[in-house]
Amino acid sequence: MPRTKLIAANWKMYKIPDQARDFFQAFVPLVADHTRDEIVVCPPAIDLSAALEAAKGSKVAVGGQNLHWEKEGAYTGEISASMLLAAGCTHVIIGHSERRQYFGETDDTVNLKLKAALEAGLIPIVCVGEVLEEREANLTEDVLRRQCLRAFHAISAKKAAKMVVAYEPVWAIGTGKTATPQLASEAHSLIRGEAAKAFGQPFADAMRILYGGSVKPENAKALMSQEEIDGALVGGASLDPKSFAAIVKY
Ligand code: PEP
Repeated sequence: MPRTKLIAANWKMYKIPDQARDFFQAFVPLVADHTRDEIVVCPPAIDLSAALEAAKGSKVAVGGQNLHWEKEGAYTGEISASMLLAAGCTHVIIGHSERRQYFGETDDTVNLKLKAALEAGLIPIVCVGEVLEEREANLTEDVLRRQCLRAFHAISAKKAAKMVVAYEPVWAIGTGKTATPQLASEAHSLIRGEAAKAFGQPFADAMRILYGGSVKPENAKALMSQEEIDGALVGGASLDPKSFAAIVKY
């Protein structure tokens, strides 16, 4: 069974609600006839309601950039899976390298968040990837294995069914440096192998693995034509409707 590609936008901490509305007004018509791939936009939490309203009636889904693993509680500033779901989100990004780097996200919190997202019925996009020092020290495989093993810990194949993984080499995020299609494919194969160990080969064969790291309209086709690459997680180039539409339609 061919895997339907997922093209995901990560807006990070950009755009106020009015700008989110403007984006959707321009973007939705550009992809109105695009049925080949799934599309999701993950704006900052403050923009979710504007984005969901503006995306209504289109095929563009809306997701969160983060969540807390508890259902509710005294966790100032946090948002739970059920809150994202109630708002109308279908997806959520988990373990983005910026959260690991700046906000103390660990392999263990990624695991807790993944369980919470799956439990709630959200489609989690779990980010893994090595930093430059790890790649240069030949540690990429070890890092990806550890991140997958710990993210997938104590989760059943049945529960994990909707899970998507994003391979995002940290040295390629926001730097303009892109992994070559071959390098990305190798990492994706390794991640698929880890998913096979954790959940079985049929699960791994069906699981989507996105590539993220300076995806642009100019390099999207070369990356997306790789059999191992099942879509993209796009940061900077997803902020502009024309540029993100060009990536979607690569
Ligand atoms: C990201 O934020 O996940 C990302 C891949 O960013 P960029 O496309 O800007 O490298």
